[in-house]
Amino acid sequence: MIKNCEICNEKFETNSSTRIYCYKCSGDSSRKDNQSRKHQKTILRRSMKLQAVKLLGGKCCKCGYDKCIDALEFHHENQEEKDFKLGSGNTMSWKDYKSEAMKCILVCSNCHKEIHSKIGYVYGNKRVMVEFI
Ligand SMILES: [Zn+2]
Ligand SMILES: [Zn+2]
Ligand SMILES: [Zn+2]
Repeated sequence: MIKNCEICNEKFETNSSTRIYCYKCSGDSSRKDNQSRKHQKTILRRSMKLQAVKLLGGKCCKCGYDKCIDALEFHHENQEEKDFKLGSGNTMSWKDYKSEAMKCILVCSNCHKEIHSKIGYVYGNKRVMVEFI
């Protein structure tokens, strides 16, 4: 059957009724070669990040940096909520990932650190200002 991938929105063909992401976005579990489950999770996370980055404009909203996706991060403007980190813990569904990412602004690592040095870091419930010498 032909389905639309939930992440990249492209059409793909599958025999599985449960598959909602295309092979490009989530890896191919039927392959017996070096695509381990762990590797597939990495593929899935990267696909989700790539798509979320695109949805948020594809570049740092402060300085316009867009060279390397690994140097782009999600910052929660509402600091009561924790920053959204890719790759930590379990793989979320794309729906959860997307709704979480949409609460954030996209910034590069440098700008992200600048933001936090101004507003301080949240540890537990406390906001801690960090001073630099
Ligand atoms: Zn896809
Ligand atoms: Zn930046
Ligand atoms: Zn942040």
